[in-house]
Amino acid sequence: MLSLVVVYVGLGALAPLLALAQHLRPAREGVPSIAVRARSLDWAYWLVTPLFSGLLSRALIVALGAMLVVALGAEVRHADDVLAFFEARSILSAIPSWSQLLVCLLLVDLLSYWSHRLRHRPLFFPLHAVHHSSRELDWLAAARMHPLDEIVDNIVISLPILLLGPAPWVFLVLGPITLLYTLVSHAAVELPLGPLRFVIVGPAFHRAHHALDAPGVNYAGMFSLWDLVFGTFRDPLSIAVPQRFGVEAPTVEDTLRGHVVTPVRRVLFGDRS
Ligand SMILES: [Zn+2]
Repeated sequence: MLSLVVVYVGLGALAPLLALAQHLRPAREGVPSIAVRARSLDWAYWLVTPLFSGLLSRALIVALGAMLVVALGAEVRHADDVLAFFEARSILSAIPSWSQLLVCLLLVDLLSYWSHRLRHRPLFFPLHAVHHSSRELDWLAAARMHPLDEIVDNIVISLPILLLGPAPWVFLVLGPITLLYTLVSHAAVELPLGPLRFVIVGPAFHRAHHALDAPGVNYAGMFSLWDLVFGTFRDPLSIAVPQRFGVEAPTVEDTLRGHVVTPVRRVLFGDRS
């Protein structure tokens, strides 16, 4: 519940700021519309991703953790028991919980880097293509994730962190923080980071990842240093501002749009487009 509150309070606070920033300092000509009618699919993903994919991921991660705790001979009566079991045995307990948060964010992003890179392999890309299908790349498109892509990614990233045993509040805020950070990294905003672009991810860095013309670069979600370490860093200052986003092939999202979104829009708005 705490994680959902953080997500939606954060969305409520960040969305107006980013919408304003996109008008004041647009990354390219033609600021994407955020009207519900024009972007109903992306707005719907802001319900589906946290409420369905997020909660189901959390339940599966805690269930897998609980199975391990029981296998190790301890009793589990509540989800908190799982977090407490691993916290009591954690090497992280030697450092303050705020430091644990930084360590966990770095580890989360390292795991996320490799998960993301793997999901760009041909076997997994059809699901991840839903996220890349947005041709209007902005903060509103950040939550557009196929549920299976999102759930598998969450488990791959969060289960090792659960076993590492950070303080429970640290574990609970990691997901919302990373999700809310994607609002910033996807924003269609001109936000020069200077030398900081070699350490943290900004909108220009992530736009290069989504650009149709430059595939296979900039996989990190929060810390661009992982792309530097693993040789996939593309300096956003070294390329022209990308203008074309999306994927070439039809995606699951295209199918969803054709069979669900367009008919629903016709019923609600009488839209014949
Ligand atoms: Zn990607």
